Amino acid sequence: MNEHMMNFRETCASCQAPLQGRRDKRFCDDACRVKHHRNKAGVLSQIDQILHNNRTLIKRFRRYHAQLAADPVACFVWLRRAGYDFNFHTHVAGQADGSLAVMCYEEGFVVEGDGVRVVSGARSGTAAVHHSVAEPGTAWSDLSRVKKRLMPGEG
Ligand SMILES: [Zn+2]
Repeated sequence: MNEHMMNFRETCASCQAPLQGRRDKRFCDDACRVKHHRNKAGVLSQIDQILHNNRTLIKRFRRYHAQLAADPVACFVWLRRAGYDFNFHTHVAGQADGSLAVMCYEEGFVVEGDGVRVVSGARSGTAAVHHSVAEPGTAWSDLSRVKKRLMPGEG
């Protein structure tokens, strides 16, 4: 297959049936096109829901369970049991103390010891995204270490 041909798909992007006719077609027909875009919207809204739920849970934690905040493991366990999905985040944000927070919008957490400490980017009054750093790798590896330790058997 040459480079030119690779720009054209040979099967429908929705149902994977072989395509007939025009070479720049992506779908068999309108039904497949509509189905494809509906599925795509479904994926986006699923992820939106997870992110919004995560954000709500951190807000709820800070509001009603702040007494647990001194214990990073208790904080992680509370979030996990409440349904927090640690696989989904919006960005990372550097904190004043040099640590990196894993954020869902303006709410987030810093990995601390074997658990997490919640932080709020809204408190500082600046958009947390401005503090994004180029090397989030340490935050992800800290997070995966805690996940492995406290959520054995889950991704
Ligand atoms: Zn099709």
